[in-house]
Amino acid sequence: MPKTLLNYNYGDWQKSAAAACQEVINPATAEVMALVPLSPPAEVDQIVQSAARAFAEWRRVPAVDRIQPLFRLKALMETHLDELARSITMENGKTLAEAKGEMRRAIENVEVACGIPILMQGDVSEDIAAGIDELMIRQPVGVVAIIAPFNFPGMIPFWFLPYAVATGNTVVLKPSERCPLTMHRCVELIEEAGFPPGVVNLVNGGPETVNALLDHPVVQAVSFVGSTPVARHIYARASANGKRVQAQGGAKNPVIILPDADLNMTTRIVLDSAFGNAGQRCLAAALAVTVGDARAHFTEALLEGASSRVVGYGLDEQVTMGPVITPQSKARIQGLIQTGLDEGAKALLDGRETTVRGYENGYFLTPTILEGVAPEGTIATTEIFGPVLGLMHVDTLDQAIELVNRGAYGNMACLFTSSGAAARKFRSEANAGNIGINIGVAAPMAFFPFSGWKDSFFGVLHGQSRHAVEFYTQTKVVIERWPREWSRTF
Ligand code: NAD
Repeated sequence: MPKTLLNYNYGDWQKSAAAACQEVINPATAEVMALVPLSPPAEVDQIVQSAARAFAEWRRVPAVDRIQPLFRLKALMETHLDELARSITMENGKTLAEAKGEMRRAIENVEVACGIPILMQGDVSEDIAAGIDELMIRQPVGVVAIIAPFNFPGMIPFWFLPYAVATGNTVVLKPSERCPLTMHRCVELIEEAGFPPGVVNLVNGGPETVNALLDHPVVQAVSFVGSTPVARHIYARASANGKRVQAQGGAKNPVIILPDADLNMTTRIVLDSAFGNAGQRCLAAALAVTVGDARAHFTEALLEGASSRVVGYGLDEQVTMGPVITPQSKARIQGLIQTGLDEGAKALLDGRETTVRGYENGYFLTPTILEGVAPEGTIATTEIFGPVLGLMHVDTLDQAIELVNRGAYGNMACLFTSSGAAARKFRSEANAGNIGINIGVAAPMAFFPFSGWKDSFFGVLHGQSRHAVEFYTQTKVVIERWPREWSRTF
């Protein structure tokens, strides 16, 4: 009998009163790994109240002391990195190497948040008028809700959590109900790191659980990552309830290849971007746009490289691409490929039908490459979130930039070239928040914001870096008058 996951409320692991549970399924084997409770609003309320109780004390703990458990957490995450990576592979499907890379990025955010004593410093101006000083201090906002997607179950909560607690807030974390196991283990490590009860809390659940967080009057800030329709909903509902919101959404990332791009390097990087994590990355290359003469040699090279990917269970060392997350997701991707073909694209590589020996029940696809993708068609405009790369062709860099800027999403755009002038123009003119120049997955380091634009982001301040510090703090400006003559009395 698979175990039912617990919630973590004020330092206690508690059985949920949920009427319903959802199965957590290993997408490579289709085995049920655990049951995740869909916690009801009443339980959300109890956990939010616990976080509020803890906030009253935690906000008073000096920043230099608040970061001590984060240092311990970093050490624990390093020690348990292999175990956490294995957990990611088993619940999400990505390869072990990809899962280890994911945990590295999670740890990096803990490291950056350890710099909070300097990152959340305020400003002082002495003598704005005679005997009057003005200062700005940063104070935590209160209880923060973090709502995460399935595709980076070990990393994405850490774009937010370390900064939220380091700045003096308390957290209610709602992991993806499809991949909740890694965060369950991370919260055990958070407990071991010695955070006081109620500073970090975990509530399992689905949309009803999320909506209870969005509506709860005590929750002050919401950090969300997921698909664009849900990000819109989160932004609208939580901000209508007076909360500050950052909602990172979906993507459709173009990579532009100029004729002077390095053939081998570009091919390798574009393929890793398109098919890494089985295409289930918000920074996956979804459209490769060749410019001018690049078309002939890159099409062939991409085709050859994609055909050689080894699909299978991510725990097997030789595997370079795992399954997609659910049978529904697989069926959706297969359907979108068919739509693309119906709209006139041609399949240079069709990965819709495959079985992996020993894992016949897994949700596997092999890479698909579609040529002749129409700019306004489904393949060019819909986030597929699977191992499908669309090829397009234009004659000039200007046309390529125009294509990038026409897209509804703005998570990432990349250019492959050896021309500095072309790179500079692209960097300046492409309307996307994360730009890669000879980079295929332009994932910002933890000390830079994860800067999605357009339909890929709703809000002002992004996750990670100084943006996170600003998001989780409210500024208080103090003007003080201390007339000089008063000091003469001493
Ligand atoms: P999702 O939107 O289905 O779910 C994300 C979270 O929202 C989950 O915790 C889920 O429980 C909750 N949720 C789902 N439907 C809801 C509803 N109707 N009301 C309230 N809450 C709801 O996303 P997913 O499938 O888990 O993740 C994949 C998506 O996330 C892709 O679109 C991907 O591009 C995006 N993503 C974006 C970024 C980024 O930084 N922009 C990063 C990773 C993933």
